[in-house]
Amino acid sequence: MEPITDLATCLLCGAGASPALNLPRFAGAACQGCAQRVGHLLVQDPTSLTDIWPLLADDVDDEPEPSVQRADGKTVELRQVIAEMKRELSVEDRMKLAEMYGEIGLIREQLEECGRVLVAAPAAGLAQRALDVLFSEELCSPRGIEELRGRMFPA
Ligand SMILES: [Zn+2]
Repeated sequence: MEPITDLATCLLCGAGASPALNLPRFAGAACQGCAQRVGHLLVQDPTSLTDIWPLLADDVDDEPEPSVQRADGKTVELRQVIAEMKRELSVEDRMKLAEMYGEIGLIREQLEECGRVLVAAPAAGLAQRALDVLFSEELCSPRGIEELRGRMFPA
């Protein structure tokens, strides 16, 4: 989707958003700075955002993490190996990974991956793709923007 206009106002910080990232469901836009702040929130403390994205509460670590053995014989958690592999990915590939997580129903992973994409402050096109997922009707609470605004810019 194309940015609506270069003169849109960010729904989160209230400043001019240029380039503007679309939040069509909330009839407005966000600036890139706020998109990155949303990413940081998602990466740092996802479980505090369940009133905005209810599916972040999905199966939070109730199963033991599987372990794998490395070539050097060391046993490590699978999650650690995956984190190391992901570090090699480009931001675009991480966005593709987020979209794939969605297709296979791993929504919590999808939301967190979108957060990591935003933290990397990608070009507007990629940030837009992450926001399209995060602020979709399926995943984001109807009050999501208000809740986020209150958290990012406490009155
Ligand atoms: Zn903003």
